[in-house]
Amino acid sequence: MNNDFEPPALSDTDVLALSVIWEHRRQSKADGIKILLLPFAPCPTCGEIVDEVIIGSQNLATLRQLVTMQPCGHVQTVSDSTLLRLQKHMGEMLADLEDANLRGRGASVEAILREARARTTPDNPVASRNTPDNPPGSTREQLPNDILELLAHRTYLSTACETARLLDGAIIRNPERGDLPGWRDRMHARCRLSQKFTGSACSCHCHKAPAP
Ligand SMILES: [Zn+2]
Ligand SMILES: [Zn+2]
Ligand SMILES: [Zn+2]
Repeated sequence: MNNDFEPPALSDTDVLALSVIWEHRRQSKADGIKILLLPFAPCPTCGEIVDEVIIGSQNLATLRQLVTMQPCGHVQTVSDSTLLRLQKHMGEMLADLEDANLRGRGASVEAILREARARTTPDNPVASRNTPDNPPGSTREQLPNDILELLAHRTYLSTACETARLLDGAIIRNPERGDLPGWRDRMHARCRLSQKFTGSACSCHCHKAPAP
């Protein structure tokens, strides 16, 4: 066995589309909506229909996870940093899907792929919203103080912490998935701590000191 072999990395578009479909399917399954399960996008390697995507354990040396397409068995990898970079888009796309579902409009895989491509194409305004020049806690884009004073107060929950709370629900519904708590903790750790335009602190319980 050759331990140096590293399967190819999934493109950002495929990672985004796959994870959105994967999470949406899991939520639908948990809610008992088996018949309307969204199909997966075709396998990025061979184009075959994919019935199931198996997410393997993480290689701690490379921080990469193996992703296996079934039934063709093609293996690709996704890195932690890619997932974190795309996490905001994932949350937004899942929220849109949920919204469409509530209105009785199912989403198509084609539409999800198109949206994922638009969000991961450089020089696309949607894709560049997640630029790293605005690190957690940065006040670079904060509005002037005299304007902030005029704004009504609204509780802010960062997308990372919001996603962590969604994961809390997924953990309760899927106690057998031992990998979910790790994902939740990573999401909390990823919080940008304050709203970038208003500076409001994230209201998530994870930032509060534990009660004495
Ligand atoms: Zn394949
Ligand atoms: Zn949090
Ligand atoms: Zn937070």
